[in-house]
Amino acid sequence: MDLKKYILNVKDFPIDGVDFKDVTPLLNNADAFTYVIDEMAKFVNECGANVVVAPEARGFLFASAVAYKSHTRFVLVRKPGKLPREVIDIEYTLEYGTNHQQMHKGDIKPGDKIVIIDDVLATGGTIEAIVKLVEMQDGKVEGVSFLIDLPALHSEDLLQEYKVQKLVKY
Ligand code: AMP
Repeated sequence: MDLKKYILNVKDFPIDGVDFKDVTPLLNNADAFTYVIDEMAKFVNECGANVVVAPEARGFLFASAVAYKSHTRFVLVRKPGKLPREVIDIEYTLEYGTNHQQMHKGDIKPGDKIVIIDDVLATGGTIEAIVKLVEMQDGKVEGVSFLIDLPALHSEDLLQEYKVQKLVKY
């Protein structure tokens, strides 16, 4: 399926210089959304994973449906101040300044097999932070899955040690 038909490029959003990939038309098309969830769920099963992990907000849109389809658990990664119980926190560097990602302590059990899902792979900072959060809790990252890859924004050897699924590249 030509998924690019359902992904709009919005120039200079949310700030000047960013080409924002708007996935809402894909969510608004039943065939395209079903296709993406089915492909991601197939990948999760091929990886032998029992847990899907995803960051807010757009990662949730895909990961929740994939967890249902692949009959796996779903663990949320959120920004500080959103998760109500004790968290594991990771700080990572952005182009300007730093950011944090958090997960509820105990959501990952030692030996869990994880696939991390997100809508867009850009610099890779977010995914690398989530990999660390999982590994800090002795989970094993079996694979990473993205709807969209922006290869110009990250090094070629990023995530080389994992199985990687990328459904669309720009
Ligand atoms: P990064 O950490 O640079 O790989 O950025 C990935 C995160 O930022 C993902 O969770 C995306 O939702 C979001 N993101 C980064 N760049 C874009 C973009 N051009 N369009 C839409 N979302 C983006």
